[in-house]
Amino acid sequence: MPELPEVEVVRRGLADHVVGHIVESVTVKHPRSVRRHVLGGDDLSARISGLRVESAQRRGKFLWLTFDDPDTALVVHLGMSGQMLVQPADAPLEKHAHIVATLDTGAQLRFVDQRTFGGWALHPLVEVDGTSLPVAVAHIARDPLDPLFDPDAVVRAMRAKQSDVKRVLLDQTVVSGIGNIYADEALWRARIHGERIAARLTRPALHGLLAEVQAVMSEALHAGGTSFDALYVNVNGQSGYFERSLAAYGREDEPCRRCGAPIRREKFMNRSSYSCPRCQPRPRR
Ligand SMILES: [Zn+2]
Repeated sequence: MPELPEVEVVRRGLADHVVGHIVESVTVKHPRSVRRHVLGGDDLSARISGLRVESAQRRGKFLWLTFDDPDTALVVHLGMSGQMLVQPADAPLEKHAHIVATLDTGAQLRFVDQRTFGGWALHPLVEVDGTSLPVAVAHIARDPLDPLFDPDAVVRAMRAKQSDVKRVLLDQTVVSGIGNIYADEALWRARIHGERIAARLTRPALHGLLAEVQAVMSEALHAGGTSFDALYVNVNGQSGYFERSLAAYGREDEPCRRCGAPIRREKFMNRSSYSCPRCQPRPRR
């Protein structure tokens, strides 16, 4: 599943290859990929055909295009395996190309999604804290790479939570865009076990943790995103390679890069958490 840095890589690709161009037509080949658009694929196609793409935007892992129609945003859910590929119109269609938008350049923007958890939907835009957001994104907090991200406010919100700090990091209404991988990496860097109660951590500890989140995401972005899934590639078909530098996530029994203790894996919701038993002692309960 793509995390924030991967989504940002896709957003930049769209900004380079799609923004400024007119959508001439949209063909929906799989209804599941437009199931979030309640009026259906024909409506989606009719409403964006003829519009010029004005921007590619992101908050957390939410990605959307805006147009020269101020009432319409196209929200792209990448789901587990969604890709946004820009291809010449005569390039063979990918097997799982479920939505195809033809641009005035003659290129096509193709939504390719093997597992069909993702999709496209149109939403009106609303104003939240001076920022225009699709209705579907209005409840999502700013992410750590947002220029208006306010660490003081996020630390205050975190200190009000009597729940595990890792759960709070994943709470998209507190801070958005942090998924399982970057939560584990930031907690490892900050030497904090994810089961510690957020409200019991000091203000400096939480500021340090948010700084590590920002650092690990910036590094991943610089490296082109993390990719564990061969299905995930960015808008130009290149996959990321940040996974080589992960310190905790996915490294069960491998030595901690700081102290050499074998990294442990613990159950976390329906997934796993990775941490160092020596650098990140479990809280006493
Ligand atoms: Zn360690």
